[in-house]
Amino acid sequence: MVTPGSDHGASGVSCDFSLEHYRELLEAAKTGGYRFAGFDQPPEPRDLIIRHDVDLSLEAAVRMAEVEAAAGVWSTWCLMTRSVFYNLASAEGERAIARLRELGGRIAHHAVWPHIDLDDRFDPVVAWHNPDLEYLTTPVEGATNAMSAPWYDPPHFRSDSNQHWRYRGRHDQCPHGELARGELEWLHLLVHPVIWAYEGAAMGETMEAFLTAERTRWLEHFRADRIDLS
Ligand SMILES: [Zn+2]
Ligand SMILES: [Zn+2]
Repeated sequence: MVTPGSDHGASGVSCDFSLEHYRELLEAAKTGGYRFAGFDQPPEPRDLIIRHDVDLSLEAAVRMAEVEAAAGVWSTWCLMTRSVFYNLASAEGERAIARLRELGGRIAHHAVWPHIDLDDRFDPVVAWHNPDLEYLTTPVEGATNAMSAPWYDPPHFRSDSNQHWRYRGRHDQCPHGELARGELEWLHLLVHPVIWAYEGAAMGETMEAFLTAERTRWLEHFRADRIDLS
């Protein structure tokens, strides 16, 4: 069934934004013979560079990393130091970084212009959060800008922005079919964990599901912080 907000690939599999379809996408890449890669060397034919911009939730990131590890896949997690939604320096944040590494992930920096807070928590890789065009692809001194050449090349790039396969005006489709058939020379795939980790037929529903889960998490933190909820 075609529903607004969901894109469909050519193979008949429903391309919904769920961890189940994410697993199918990873399997498709393995079927197509792709090799998982990062930002430490220029992309080569048959490389699949999976990058996650973690904008909203470390918990969603860890759940997605567990799906990847179970599939024998690794990726690059771009984490924020200036998020209004999570605190990387909290105990929860430190646990999340440790777990992402333990699951085989690489840790990069999702930076808020113009601040770069690269320290020993991160590989020297930067991806800007909600970048303006003027600095999107500009090289960063002392680090790799994940959106600079050769890692960013529009024909070799897909993003799941707001549950639509589109980026800066270009409309695409979920790459699972092309990956399974080995049709993409190489791919830099940007995946935002929250929109796959929480259920919803459209972005609004997914965010409501995320809010419900966050309420529970906050209540636990209130209790841990000895806040009287009576
Ligand atoms: Zn798909
Ligand atoms: Zn972002």
